[in-house]
Amino acid sequence: MVNLTLKERLKRTLNGKTVDKTPVLAVTQTGTKDLMSLTKYYWPDANWNPKALAQLAISAHKEIGFEAVRIPYCLTVLLEALGCEIEKGDTTRQAAVKGHPYNSRKPVPIGKVPETILSSGRIPIMIEAIKIIKDIVGDNVPIIAGSEGPVTIASGLVEVTTLMRWFIREKEGLLEYLQYGSDAMISYANALLDAGADAFVVLDPVASPELISPKDFNDLVLPIYKDISKKIKGDSILHICGDITAILPSLRESGFIGLSIEEKTDMKEAKDTLEDKIKLIGNISSAKTLLNGTYNEVYEECITALEKGTDILAPGCGLAPMTPIKNCIAMIDARNNYFKK
Ligand SMILES: [Zn+2]
Repeated sequence: MVNLTLKERLKRTLNGKTVDKTPVLAVTQTGTKDLMSLTKYYWPDANWNPKALAQLAISAHKEIGFEAVRIPYCLTVLLEALGCEIEKGDTTRQAAVKGHPYNSRKPVPIGKVPETILSSGRIPIMIEAIKIIKDIVGDNVPIIAGSEGPVTIASGLVEVTTLMRWFIREKEGLLEYLQYGSDAMISYANALLDAGADAFVVLDPVASPELISPKDFNDLVLPIYKDISKKIKGDSILHICGDITAILPSLRESGFIGLSIEEKTDMKEAKDTLEDKIKLIGNISSAKTLLNGTYNEVYEECITALEKGTDILAPGCGLAPMTPIKNCIAMIDARNNYFKK
């Protein structure tokens, strides 16, 4: 047990085996202005240039001490490959979707995911970045890759308010879009796992109970998640933003092995509902403490999360670009001291 590599510790944790200490890392985006200044690799270029993408991601491991390397920095890679127009952003703004390829009020048949998907948009860049990361960090540091999940993909294809209307009035057409997003995501996930990623995170902010009712989530989204978790050929993690307490009973059956939660979802309550069926990841506030708090506030929040039983200590959501590096280091220090006792 004393000589676990970072990768072994993460894999064992996700798969319910005993470990010496809780891993501390991020399954959400890690690009910050501090790290850009240190590496001289900046957004937006670091979203498009595989070497820059790899080096900026590695810096969160080397400079902060996160025990994984995580890519990418946005929720647009798959959506760009599926035909969305992308706003590139800048050093403090993530790349974002600005144009939706389907804009009719009612669902038009969307057909099958193009066979060329894996060579479209930035997907080849992600595959190359993973290979570069592996060459640099070696076999002992886990690589975590993520992408937008099926509900978020559908909301990028058609625009979020349209999608919300379909949840109420166009359930059949809606399902076709969710399935399309899911099919595209599964082939993307498996391509990144084949390229050397060790875990895949499905990030689905639009599936939050803040936007979709728990009943619709259970009836329409859960079956899609079950299918995804079955078909992803590796360790799969789900991240949904906001307070997701209401859908925890559904998520228990989702088949994912890890669930990443924000501070709005109580760690203890999540733990009690999931009963170790899914490992919990989180839930240090990206906005309140990591971005706007002090080192000591982050440190204390980490100790509380560890006491409440988080399986992996992590930011609750993507790091805000202006997050100070020392606040992230507080996470590493808290975990180290907690396990010294
Ligand atoms: Zn989030």
